Amino acid sequence: MRGILKDCSEREKLRYYHGLLGEEKYAALREMILEASKAVFLGGAGVSTESGIPDFRSKDGLYRKKNRKFARYRPEYLLSNECLTGKPEVFFSYFRENLDCREVQPNDAHKALARLESAGRLSGIITQNIDGLHQKAGSKNVMEIHGSALRSYCVYCRKNYGPDFIFQSLDPVPRCPECGHMVRPDVTLYGEILPDPAYGDAIRILQDADLLVIGGTSLEVGSASQLAHIYHGKHMVIINKGKTKLEGKADLVFHESIGKVLKAVSDSI
Ligand code: NAD
Ligand code: ZN
Repeated sequence: MRGILKDCSEREKLRYYHGLLGEEKYAALREMILEASKAVFLGGAGVSTESGIPDFRSKDGLYRKKNRKFARYRPEYLLSNECLTGKPEVFFSYFRENLDCREVQPNDAHKALARLESAGRLSGIITQNIDGLHQKAGSKNVMEIHGSALRSYCVYCRKNYGPDFIFQSLDPVPRCPECGHMVRPDVTLYGEILPDPAYGDAIRILQDADLLVIGGTSLEVGSASQLAHIYHGKHMVIINKGKTKLEGKADLVFHESIGKVLKAVSDSI
């Protein structure tokens, strides 16, 4: 394929990639990964749906789940700083019911990404997910730009607590045994500023990358969409069941299961 595209303009290359189908598209992605010196993956909730965690915006997503207990609240409100501080009992009740991912296991997508990293083919994973599944699959360089539901901390004395603390606490609002203040999950809620180290690392790795694979994200959340726009490397690939705004910029677009695509490609490397 490299031979065919040698003297082509960027527009002609894009037209060529957009015309690929089936196995040829898989082969093109494989080749892009093998050619890249710094490949980065940017993902979201769709990476974990095959592990059984619903995403937000799909037809089976959390935003469409009918639950009378929370029906009067907007989904964004239930995961906002406004709810945490204004109605903490509601926040923790929703969080405990919907965001307990302690026993969930990684799927083919997480495993394939971990394999690519250990084979030296992937420099890092930027994830909006808070479920810790990339690390469970063995990935090392994971930038959790929205934090992790497996960590929590006291809002007053800042003491850190483990994955079980919020879920095992008998208080409707979990309290710090040291000082009595609220213990909250270490996740970025709507209305909060992103954690600096992870977001800063994500910006740096993207500025330097030559392949960006985006998957399992609607790119509706501002932070992810901004990160995708920072990237100006050689190739961009999108693997997402639903349509996303950036498809016009991508060389390859797969409207398929991310587990299926990444497994097939990583098995062939
Ligand atoms: P989103 O719900 O807005 O979009 C998910 C996208 O993934 C959709 O476009 C859908 O078509 C696609 N998708 C779903 N399953 C897929 C599959 N198997 N293969 C390919 N594509 C698939 O999610 P988002 O863009 O990540 O934004 C939601 C926010 O909520 C993020 O901040 C995210 O971290 C958070 N969230 C996290 C989790 C988690 O940690 N697992 C779960 C729900 C939401
Ligand atoms: Zn405390």
